[in-house]
Amino acid sequence: MLKRCATWLVALCIVAQSSGVRASEACAGGVVALTFDDGPAPATSALLDILAREGLRVTFFVLGKHVEQYPDLARRIVADGHAIANHSYTHPDLTTLPGSEIESELRRTQQVVLKVTGKKVVFARPPYGESNDQVRHQLSTAGLKEVIWTVDSLDWTGVGAKEILRGVEMTQPGGVVLMHDTSPQLREALPLIAKHFRDNRICAGKLAPTTKRMPVGNWYPRAFYVHAERW
Ligand code: ZN
Repeated sequence: MLKRCATWLVALCIVAQSSGVRASEACAGGVVALTFDDGPAPATSALLDILAREGLRVTFFVLGKHVEQYPDLARRIVADGHAIANHSYTHPDLTTLPGSEIESELRRTQQVVLKVTGKKVVFARPPYGESNDQVRHQLSTAGLKEVIWTVDSLDWTGVGAKEILRGVEMTQPGGVVLMHDTSPQLREALPLIAKHFRDNRICAGKLAPTTKRMPVGNWYPRAFYVHAERW
């Protein structure tokens, strides 16, 4: 009995060690956060299918008015294991609004996401990445952490799937990539991105606060303090 027990423990030990090695090697190429803005929209459904097939978990920066319009899609985003975040209610440039309207854009989205999905949102991306001290003050008052991006995939300009992939390939470990639910080329790009991640042992990660300064693409001297971590 003692021998069998010891054998079993050794076997368990080997399994535990090898799975530990596998786990650390799995993201040896780093972690990158893919973020999808402006949904949910009818196109979100096909994206969710592809993400599920490719085993990618991402963050959706939703508009409150679209959550109101497509509550089932908002619920599916959460049920599929993705993160949901605040991208305002109507997509205005928040830097042009008085404080009370910025507060309302953020609060209404927080409320509808909570009502529809049961999730309390903690990250927000101001539309167009446009921000200033007043916007940041309102974000922090609402308990939201500002997220811009380290790489803009340029999917919104109509570039092809290969160009979108190139943006993701340029992304440094910990980086945050901007994409959009409504980009038709993104459906074609996602399998290429998933293959690039598999080939290079990169993991699609979640957003997490960091003390490290994350520069916004080529938009010097803009920066933010959120990076990608493993789920
Ligand atoms: Zn947007």
